[in-house]
Amino acid sequence: MNNLVEMWEIQLDEIEHWRADAKTFMRKVEQYATGIVEEAKTLKVGAIDFEESLGNCPGCGEPIRQSEKRYFCSSASGCTFYI
Ligand SMILES: [Zn+2]
Repeated sequence: MNNLVEMWEIQLDEIEHWRADAKTFMRKVEQYATGIVEEAKTLKVGAIDFEESLGNCPGCGEPIRQSEKRYFCSSASGCTFYI
């Protein structure tokens, strides 16, 4: 994230010294933020895939998740299955 701050500082310098178009700068920031969101979505999908590889709950079929000490059902519908 340090690179992001540095990038913004460089861009702000450019605006100050070279009178760069502020709208262009904001568009770049938006594009960068969108990229972070897309990256987060990708990471989340990867995590779900990993969790699904643990198998599904025999009681309700929802994915089994792993905690430090046990495997447990990820269902939000009240199923309390765990190993
Ligand atoms: Zn379950």
